[in-house]
Amino acid sequence: MPPAFTRKADAFESLLSAAPAAVAGNHEFLLRLGPRPVLFTAPHAVRHWRSGAWKGADRLTGFVALEAARRSRSDALVVTADTFEDANFEPGGVLKQMLSNLALFGRIRAIIDIHGMGSADGPDVILGTAGGRSPAALVSLVHDELVRVGLSVEIRHNGNKSAVRTNTVTAHALRLGFPAIQLEIAPGPRLAALSDEPSFEHLIEALAVIAATIGDAPGEIDVASLPARPSDGETKIDSPRTRGTVR
Ligand SMILES: [Zn+2]
Repeated sequence: MPPAFTRKADAFESLLSAAPAAVAGNHEFLLRLGPRPVLFTAPHAVRHWRSGAWKGADRLTGFVALEAARRSRSDALVVTADTFEDANFEPGGVLKQMLSNLALFGRIRAIIDIHGMGSADGPDVILGTAGGRSPAALVSLVHDELVRVGLSVEIRHNGNKSAVRTNTVTAHALRLGFPAIQLEIAPGPRLAALSDEPSFEHLIEALAVIAATIGDAPGEIDVASLPARPSDGETKIDSPRTRGTVR
């Protein structure tokens, strides 16, 4: 990536890792809304609390979600500070509630849930279909675009990294009626945001094409009947549950 972009990625990631608590200045969520009704989520962009311990962040997944949304003028929902919930593991929580609210307004055509896997010896991206429930058209679109930019991709319906557990963001979104899919991205393409290696740019390019394809496709959603979508912009959100508390 160009040096200016690399600095931007590094600054964003430093902000997330250095100030994980809302009281340290980070808001809990960053919601970006663009004209295209496709939502990139990054529930593990910061460390998260699971089974009595902190688990490290899926590094740069927040940046991936935001850049893909910026590039395609679509939406992103990124966890940016400690919420004490693992939105990809627990049945409830603030992020799932936010997805339910979005479902209520019928403004999202697809959810693409962005994660980072630790292993570098597998494919660049594992697509999780939550037991094969992700719509086949979505799976093939995502697969084909990632392959087109030169990334190696594996589709996984069951088992580890398949989003099959009941309370993954993908499984939850599918239950709400959203077409949804999970991406587990290997360290290579993610960390390329911090170097001049081109695979990050390729990843973002593919995600932007995916969002544009879904967002612009003629479909069942009667866009004219919906309230006007806000123009491009980002909103920082804290949940009432934790706002103002000192931990
Ligand atoms: Zn994750």
